[in-house]
Amino acid sequence: MSQFTSPEDAKALRCPLARTFGDDKPLSSECQGHVCAVWRWKPISAKDPRFTKAINEEIDRLHAEHKAEHPLSDRKKDGFHQQAVKNVSADREAHGVPSEPELGFCGLGGVPLL
Ligand code: SF4
Repeated sequence: MSQFTSPEDAKALRCPLARTFGDDKPLSSECQGHVCAVWRWKPISAKDPRFTKAINEEIDRLHAEHKAEHPLSDRKKDGFHQQAVKNVSADREAHGVPSEPELGFCGLGGVPLL
């Protein structure tokens, strides 16, 4: 199993603190996921395939747009990378990239090694 999990899948994990606090009734032994103060989200990586795919598509779009406006230009696709990242980051969901993290981890043991 990955060191990172969705809050839903985290319910299958046992919480080491579940029975060490609380007043009368013991808490569930299930991990409470993102509602727990110890839960930490894993940021979406710049290497996420959805992000890199969106960047490449945006580079292609910007390059095609540039070529249409400047047919004699020899500007290469690499020259559009920075603008593509800016465009995708400005509206991630329109480019198929989640704007919120999806996976997380119990922060009791610190940050998992990547
Ligand atoms: S995040 Fe950690 S401390 Fe919080 S409920 Fe889940 S296992 Fe327990």
